[in-house]
Amino acid sequence: MASVDQLTAAGVASAIAEGALSAVEVATAALDAISARDADLHAYLEVTPDLALEAARRVDERRAAGEPLGPLAGVPFAIKDNLQLEGTHTTCGSRMLEGYASQFTATAVSRMLAAGAVPLGKTNMDEFAFGSSCEASAFGPTRNPWDLARVPGGSSGGSAAAVAAGEATLALGSDTGGSIRQPASLCGVVGMKPSYGTVSRYGLVAFGSSLDQVGPLARTVRDAALCLQALAGGGPDPLDATTTGAPRDFLAHLGPAADAPEPLTIGLVPRLLEAEGLDADEKSALSHARHVLADQGATFVELDLPHADAAIAAYYAIASCEAFSNLARFDGVRFGAQVGAPTLAEQTSRTRAAGFGAEARRRQLLGAYLLSSDAYERYFTQAQRIRRSIAADLSRALSRCDAILAPASPTCAFGFGERSDPVRMYASDLFTVGCNLAGNPAISVPLGLGPQSGLPVSAQLIGACHDDARLLGVAAALERGHGASASAEPAPVAPAFLGRGGELPA
Ligand code: GLN
Repeated sequence: MASVDQLTAAGVASAIAEGALSAVEVATAALDAISARDADLHAYLEVTPDLALEAARRVDERRAAGEPLGPLAGVPFAIKDNLQLEGTHTTCGSRMLEGYASQFTATAVSRMLAAGAVPLGKTNMDEFAFGSSCEASAFGPTRNPWDLARVPGGSSGGSAAAVAAGEATLALGSDTGGSIRQPASLCGVVGMKPSYGTVSRYGLVAFGSSLDQVGPLARTVRDAALCLQALAGGGPDPLDATTTGAPRDFLAHLGPAADAPEPLTIGLVPRLLEAEGLDADEKSALSHARHVLADQGATFVELDLPHADAAIAAYYAIASCEAFSNLARFDGVRFGAQVGAPTLAEQTSRTRAAGFGAEARRRQLLGAYLLSSDAYERYFTQAQRIRRSIAADLSRALSRCDAILAPASPTCAFGFGERSDPVRMYASDLFTVGCNLAGNPAISVPLGLGPQSGLPVSAQLIGACHDDARLLGVAAALERGHGASASAEPAPVAPAFLGRGGELPA
């Protein structure tokens, strides 16, 4: 058997159910991995050994008493630090919320706990989820487990690095414009943004309420599906009115190859596959994905998404406006560390100046400007029109195929400080923001290491709204074919330094 910290969630759950491992043993192994590696990685902002061991003990007791176990019983998971869990802090990677004690538990987290999963702690992120590299965390960046001199992506970089480094079996992230899929891609793990309305946002600190979705980061597509089943299989959440009654059997298309609803039809969009700025390794990953899917019996249709080039502009307008509105509550009175001053206006301004980092300030200033009477019609309303066109493009395209194959990230993991120009950083989201604007589900599937960089590469698959199960089925076919192909190195996904006898890469 692989060492405990390299097992999949499915593997952990079945080893525990069969009694081959105890939940306490698994939790202890995960906590040991965190102690050994996290000083280098900084994936976690807070580790919760007491909560983890208590949850693990409960699983072992239930098993000993012959009581039924949840589907993720004993599976250790990490939680992005914008999701509340009672007994922990929720800082969103910001000085503004340093020391803030969670007041309740987010629905997504409580559903994981109800499935028997074991909480390891809270993971690092770009401040309030603004960013694509984790460099905007007020508490210092997370490093990429494949190369410590590079970023893990963001904003859920801590969650992605934790899974890639064997510091968690599953992790929760949030994706407003790519923050699950892009770090998953840079760290070589699976990351999925479900359809908008699938997972409850109750207890997620809001960034862009019409865009935010909580979703899984995992080692395999099946693990991501198991996690999503725990998060959303129980149906809509009465505490989040935007959760929908869409079908919720996320494992429906994950059977063995013979049961899959083949042949698949995959949509190819030249303007995405040949986009400027896509690096050679990501291009070769996409052509590898095409071959693998063809070997799995897929046929291809060429499609266009005519408004794709406008997605970044529309996203940064809409997301900044929503962020400006959502972050108004951090004023030192309702929320946030107060900096005292003689007048309320002065106090608010000092509090906000001290609490927010540069990127959080930039987003809110941009949002404030775009919502002003001068700019509203010209930018905000126009961005909403583009948003509708992007949704219509995707819906039309996906009526002709099972999924669209696209890049997840234009490049492999980049170095610290390389994208200090915000516009260059925003370009990291070229391929991910469209699905948030339109509400579609999308998943990043790791495809080994790029021949030039030696770093993880991936492909993104985009599915039809509320057909997350079919999308997972296509992702499983890609993963299966990749695993069987000669270029599948390494499979299953494992961090570089685990393969090198615990040595960290230079
Ligand atoms: N990188 C994008 C941004 O900075 C997406 C962030 C996210 O999905 N939370 O807005």
